[in-house]
Amino acid sequence: MKWGFGGMSKLALKDLDLAALEKQVVAWGQPRYRGRQLAEWIFKKGVTDFDDMTNLPADFRSQLQHEAEITRLVVLKKLVSDSGDTVKYLFGLADGGAVEGVLMKHNYGRTACVSTQVGCRMGCLFCASALGGWERNLTAGEIYDQVLTIQKDEGCRISHIVVMGTGEPLDNYEHTMRFIDNISAPYGLLISPRRITLSTCGLVPAIRRLAGERRGLTLAVSLHAPNDELRNRLVPVNRRYPLGELIPACRDYAAATGRRVSLEYALLRGYNDRPELAHQLAELSSGWLCHVNLIPVNVVPERGFYPPSRKRIQYFKNILMQHGIPVTIRKEMGADINAACGQLRWKNRKGDKE
Ligand code: SAH
Repeated sequence: MKWGFGGMSKLALKDLDLAALEKQVVAWGQPRYRGRQLAEWIFKKGVTDFDDMTNLPADFRSQLQHEAEITRLVVLKKLVSDSGDTVKYLFGLADGGAVEGVLMKHNYGRTACVSTQVGCRMGCLFCASALGGWERNLTAGEIYDQVLTIQKDEGCRISHIVVMGTGEPLDNYEHTMRFIDNISAPYGLLISPRRITLSTCGLVPAIRRLAGERRGLTLAVSLHAPNDELRNRLVPVNRRYPLGELIPACRDYAAATGRRVSLEYALLRGYNDRPELAHQLAELSSGWLCHVNLIPVNVVPERGFYPPSRKRIQYFKNILMQHGIPVTIRKEMGADINAACGQLRWKNRKGDKE
């Protein structure tokens, strides 16, 4: 099914950054400052109609109608958790694809969780996002639109972003960074990079590149196993970038940015919850700026993974604490609405109508 907003040949403005917008308006015969005006309309005010851009001359607006488009997403599904603090969306893209986004209402603000790809090609064993394979990268504009759509739909202001939806953001580096640069800019939503957490399964060259670019993003790394033998199975990309390369890259990221790296560890009963693994994990994470975030795995029936008992999770946590490692257990939100990890999209594709 196609929704089709405007022709595909038109220039999708939200895929550009300010410099590119300025260059483009000059090419259209306008003064450079119109680029910033345009950027504020699309990124800050989130308008979707050129006619609403009241400070642009009418002839320029009609030129824009012909040459450019302002993308938007449709809300295909919206699920609200019983507690009301988590809202899960299935967004429809212009080409008929669909991605998930989540709004989490915390006492410190509103967090949007965004997807960066349609599907994923990393193939982590316990993750629903990988179930249907990889289809394509999202554009910078499509990632941005997830935030705008949530804001509009809920009438709220997003203060924090987690790039933890479907897809591997560092496998779609350019578009993900352009999204981050736009949303953190004064012409965007002015969300500080410190309030943006990007999660990766561990693409080492991209982590190093990110450290060099010094955006000051918070980095989360999906570790899930403290030795190569186990991690090769759970997170296959480890065969390409083993722990001996990944951990030094994370340490260097922390050193270069001064930002504490978050090591994500999804606890899978019978797979990675043994006490000896907690000791190994402590060894990897001691002596540098990081903390461990334990995540009781969300059950993905297709994968046959289940979380350990509360007692066992606590025991695992205690071992880390004894080693002096800062450790938290992730607050579970939205489990009743499949808010985790690609489950909504996958169910939708299977035609499951719950
Ligand atoms: N590709 C990136 C971004 C996805 S973030 C990454 O791997 O980090 C989503 C986070 O949820 C990752 O830490 C991922 O490993 C984790 N995750 C995936 N499936 C899960 C599940 N069933 N239960 C709990 N966490 C899961």
